[in-house]
Amino acid sequence: MYTSCTLCPRACGVDRTKGEKGYCRLPADIVMDCALAHHGEEPPLSGTGGAGTIFLSSCNLGCIYCQNYQISHSTRGRELTVIQLARVMLDLQQKGCHNVEPVTPTPQTPLIMEALCLARMQGLTVPFVYNCGGYENTEVIRMLDGMVDIYLPDFKYGLEADALLFSDAPEYPTIAIEAIREMVRQTGDDLEMENGIATRGIIVRHLVLPGRLENSKRALKRLKSKISPNIPISLMSQYTPIDRVKSHPQLGRRITGNEYHQIVDYALDLGFENLFIQEVNDDTLTPDFNRENPFDSSRTPDAK
Ligand code: SF4
Repeated sequence: MYTSCTLCPRACGVDRTKGEKGYCRLPADIVMDCALAHHGEEPPLSGTGGAGTIFLSSCNLGCIYCQNYQISHSTRGRELTVIQLARVMLDLQQKGCHNVEPVTPTPQTPLIMEALCLARMQGLTVPFVYNCGGYENTEVIRMLDGMVDIYLPDFKYGLEADALLFSDAPEYPTIAIEAIREMVRQTGDDLEMENGIATRGIIVRHLVLPGRLENSKRALKRLKSKISPNIPISLMSQYTPIDRVKSHPQLGRRITGNEYHQIVDYALDLGFENLFIQEVNDDTLTPDFNRENPFDSSRTPDAK
């Protein structure tokens, strides 16, 4: 799959085994930034022991505002063998993490799945969480049937114009919905839990962007009409402008409490009941960049 890469919808067709670089600029190796117990994810993922988050380098999206810019826009990191990544997964389990959760596995999926198989043979029992940006090749997602326990995709855009402008991602709304439909086919449109910890299912994440309420509303409408009003949705309020967009006319500020609550109300009016909602108020939404955000992810890279 690395010799003519179509691992994501960009379908660059490059031979990554020969050093050719596609949009993500990744080689045909596993490149990881760090792995840690993440206590800032949604409660059923973080629990008390943390999510076993594995931050992988680079990304197949080009979000200009990415909250993990230093990781997602760089190909630097530790190059790992499949055996080493399997050990990372087992270490996270041993430390008490409730799952293993590679972030943006999309461009590195084949070797990650190989590592997962190896780790399973060596005693990994916690759920495997596929945490991605939603810009997925549905054919690749289909190949993961039976291996992924919990899907954690973004659905960032209901408006294609915003997807192009902010993430350089043509046809994002259509492509992401198709991928999410396949994820739901595999794991169902709900989240199964044991003792408050997620074991199987899906959560769709949506980061509310400042002034882009129509984009959020269209995204929610699409999720309802094309997927299911039952699907768990995490509405994220923690958008913080990074240095490179601080003077951007739209993205240069945080969202207001009023904007966030409008989107929560809209989701409720559409009939979504399985919502993860963050507590916000306008005092904590002023541009205080040292403040811890409601999901407590400022001490670690953001999982999204
Ligand atoms: S994974 Fe990377 S090289 Fe492969 S199609 Fe996507 S952006 Fe291109």
